[in-house]
Amino acid sequence: MADLNLTNIKKAYGKVEVLHDINLKIDRGEFIVFVGPSGCGKSTLLRMIAGLEEISGGSLTIGGNPMNDIPPSMRGIAMVFQSYALYPHMTVYDNMAFSMRLTKASKEEIDSQVKNAARILQLDPLLNRLPKALSGGQRQRVAIGRAIVRNPDVFLFDEPLSNLDAALRVATRLEIANLKESMPDTTMIYVTHDQVEAMTLADRIVVLSAGYIEQVGSPLELYTNPANLFVAQFIGSPAMNVVPAKVTGSGAATRLEVTPGMPFPVPIASAKTLEGQDIQFGVRPEDLRIAEGAQFLFEGTVSFVESLGEVTLLHISVERAPELVVAKIAGIADYEKGQRVRVIADEDKLHMFDAAGLTLRGKA
Ligand code: ADP
Ligand code: MG
Repeated sequence: MADLNLTNIKKAYGKVEVLHDINLKIDRGEFIVFVGPSGCGKSTLLRMIAGLEEISGGSLTIGGNPMNDIPPSMRGIAMVFQSYALYPHMTVYDNMAFSMRLTKASKEEIDSQVKNAARILQLDPLLNRLPKALSGGQRQRVAIGRAIVRNPDVFLFDEPLSNLDAALRVATRLEIANLKESMPDTTMIYVTHDQVEAMTLADRIVVLSAGYIEQVGSPLELYTNPANLFVAQFIGSPAMNVVPAKVTGSGAATRLEVTPGMPFPVPIASAKTLEGQDIQFGVRPEDLRIAEGAQFLFEGTVSFVESLGEVTLLHISVERAPELVVAKIAGIADYEKGQRVRVIADEDKLHMFDAAGLTLRGKA
């Protein structure tokens, strides 16, 4: 049980700085997910918290205690990696008991901790098996069990599911969600590049890009109010569509023009006038629908149709848009390549970004 405080944390390898001025407060018992594309610095940040990488600048406290110079074994943390690396000649039980035996804990203590971990992870029937007789998902559960028996204050995970196939990933993700419920006082930090894992597991998500924190917030905050274009396009699948547009008028009379000559009214919350500016506007595929009336957001040609049964994805080529615009239409919809379509969205579902990619207005 511990809170963490990261203040102006930096990491440099030689002259190359890979993490810049990271500031983050994590409450005890929180489940935090670090998410971002490969190479953005997630593992490095986690490893600095674990004490496996030196901190080049700034300070880290865990439970109020300075940790910069404290060795990993004294930090009250346990870490689970992508590769589970179990001892192949030891049973599941012994794999989990191993680290406790090193601490000279009593047999009874070890037994009770191992059985507790096995119960949480539903490993009871497998305790006498060797790793080679386990599935990938079961092996990863044993690796998590090894961490649980150490009764850590802070639990760190670095992409623990990425070696598993798709079905196992879903199942093991649910187990990790259960783990969070079973250990409500343990602070957990979980690294992934998978935004679905981030959305489903996190109390709060930290979005990283190129060594910077882009935004910190609950999954739905990031989804509804992304601070910038990066977060807007990273969270959500298929990604948010972004289309250049011109703003005409101001205040209540503000209009957004994607197709020249076809202005679409948008409420501008901020007093700042955007009149005459070229902006980028974003709209999620699930917020687009086919326009029935005279008003529409933009018009385009269907480039291809993906019918998934539960939804139909229309990929629409829109003049002036650099990429195909995706509209997610519920159910089975009958559209053909080459067909002209007009789409629309509710005004409050529109996101607007300036030239630097910053969100121009917050939404309720
Ligand atoms: P992620 O986990 O988000 O994929 P990493 O934290 O592993 O990213 O890496 C962040 C950046 O730091 C990358 O550009 C990577 O090349 C660099 N990096 C990681 N470890 C080292 C190292 N030991 N020496 C030099 N550069 C490194
Ligand atoms: Mg990594």
